[in-house]
Amino acid sequence: NHLRKEFPINDFKLFAPRKVVHAVEDATFELYPGQATALVGESGSGKTTVARMLARLYDPTSGEISFRGEPIKLQSHRAAVLRQYRRHVQLIFQDPFASLNPIHDVRYHLSRPLRLFGHAHTEDEVTEQVLALLRRVSLSPAEQFIQKFPHQLSGGQRQRIAIARALAVHPEVLLADEPVSMLDVSIRLDILNLLLRLKKEEQLALLFITHDIASARYFAENTLVMYAGQMVEGGPSEAVIQTPKHPYTQLLLAAAPDPDRIKAQGHGLSEEVHARGEIPSLINPPEGCRFHPRCPHAMPVCKQHFPARTELGNGHWTNCFLYTDQTIQQQTTAPAAQ
Ligand code: SF4
Repeated sequence: NHLRKEFPINDFKLFAPRKVVHAVEDATFELYPGQATALVGESGSGKTTVARMLARLYDPTSGEISFRGEPIKLQSHRAAVLRQYRRHVQLIFQDPFASLNPIHDVRYHLSRPLRLFGHAHTEDEVTEQVLALLRRVSLSPAEQFIQKFPHQLSGGQRQRIAIARALAVHPEVLLADEPVSMLDVSIRLDILNLLLRLKKEEQLALLFITHDIASARYFAENTLVMYAGQMVEGGPSEAVIQTPKHPYTQLLLAAAPDPDRIKAQGHGLSEEVHARGEIPSLINPPEGCRFHPRCPHAMPVCKQHFPARTELGNGHWTNCFLYTDQTIQQQTTAPAAQ
């Protein structure tokens, strides 16, 4: 609820004003068991920061995180408290090449969480559960993988090990930060299908971070769209993707690979998307709606205020002045009080 994250920047110039990266501004959303939620946006939009706050790798600057409806104590950094939280909430990193320690074999990687969280005690229990985890992520015959080292595995196999390691603690929430973006195109679908199967079998609440809105449509029941640290649209994927309301979502969809457009133009991006610039710096982001410098519909009010969330029905919402009523627009168009 209302998550915000700022990162101060160390500037070594004497008397220089302190700079801050405004990475995430007022992010509010929910995750549900057995459902995937895609968090979509360009690089630098704040998606990874959101996931890292949920995993408690970063402390929010302000806001609240609730688990099963109960606010969690963000002030407590005791190892026991964090371990208890991570029993329920696990994060899969983007880079399967960096997330495994090259000097340890698969058995070591998977046995650590099993022992740490008390799921296996004896060597036999560890071996049995490591083999079961390998089978759950479709690495078979499991006996052939248990003693392999990361350098003996392909990118897809490493990502399966990373997923198995997350599953070892029986989490209820899985945060997958661009889990296929560093893999060969040929195996991306396999990993996506694996995550889909596990979500269903384990009733996982899955947050799937991607810059590819086309895969969100395939993968997730719900979609959230982020731009420059602000969440701008969300709801059931069908509604967000079939009837996008926010101009940025419309732009993202126009930029998504479209076989028909590629055939006609020789590329997947519309000229309009290229013409409208890039995501702004988050050190000094635009006031109001951060999308206004790129928005074809920008109004004076957009430069002064960030629009409140407008409910569009059936769980679909957006933050855009195009969908607030006229009275609100007129009120917010007045210059801010000094
Ligand atoms: Fe465009 Fe204004 Fe809507 Fe932002 S609030 S997307 S600038 S119309």
